[in-house]
Amino acid sequence: MLKDKIILVTGATRGIGQATAIRLAECGARVVLHGRTSEGLTDTILCVEAAGCEPFVVLYDVTDESAMKQAIVTIKKEFGRLDGLVNNAGVMQEGLLGMMKTTAIQELLAVNVTSALVQMQYASKLMLKNEVGSIVNVSSIIGLNGAEGSAAYAASKAAVVGFTKSAAKEWAAKGIRVNAVAPGFIETDLTSHYVEDRKKAVLQTIKMQRFGQASEVANVIAFLLSDNASYVTGQVIGVDGGMVI
Ligand code: NAD
Repeated sequence: MLKDKIILVTGATRGIGQATAIRLAECGARVVLHGRTSEGLTDTILCVEAAGCEPFVVLYDVTDESAMKQAIVTIKKEFGRLDGLVNNAGVMQEGLLGMMKTTAIQELLAVNVTSALVQMQYASKLMLKNEVGSIVNVSSIIGLNGAEGSAAYAASKAAVVGFTKSAAKEWAAKGIRVNAVAPGFIETDLTSHYVEDRKKAVLQTIKMQRFGQASEVANVIAFLLSDNASYVTGQVIGVDGGMVI
């Protein structure tokens, strides 16, 4: 259901982005890998090639709008279209509300909100032309429920829900579906700093009694991108092992 679809995955160097790129390649998609440096993408390129896909690579920091725009121009030149976007690049910064510096809040929002929104705008330009496309934004359970020490991150991921639903409403009649996934605790670099006691406390909140793997989020993203989800738009799908039911 994804054969030969051109799909851009941001933040494909590791974690959920990397697992998604590999899953899409296994499904026959032509994956466009985004990273900041080509070295950072080395592992992903090897895995995607092993899955039978020749990846196309675009390099930019997501906060650099002109570089992002240029990358979309390059994709247009190479393929003439874009069928899917996985808006995955993101950062997490923690801090109790009273302790967080304004600059840290702004940096977090710049990556997780502004850049993700602008990325969606640029990708949609190629999709609207052909009146076909599917976008999956990566939110978080924390964006839906909040978490102590995560107010700024929660705000950023709640914003992802807001712009996902707004875009879904704006573009549904133009053939573009826009959905989000809201992962729970997934074992990646983003969560690797959690100390054992904290991990134990989180584990107690997960009904399936285990942490999630990046590949399990990738499977849901691949479904939302595919024609199997042809009547699904504006939805936020939790991928959290029953953390929030
Ligand atoms: P990760 O840290 O392993 O990967 C993040 C990716 O984003 C990396 O490829 C990184 O290079 C890229 N990135 C970050 N800032 C960037 C920038 N300025 N320009 C370009 N690329 C940039 O983390 P992950 O767990 O794979 O997270 C992927 C997404 O999933 C993020 O949006 C994160 O908020 C979200 N998420 C993760 C979890 C989890 O438990 N791991 C839970 C909920 C949501």
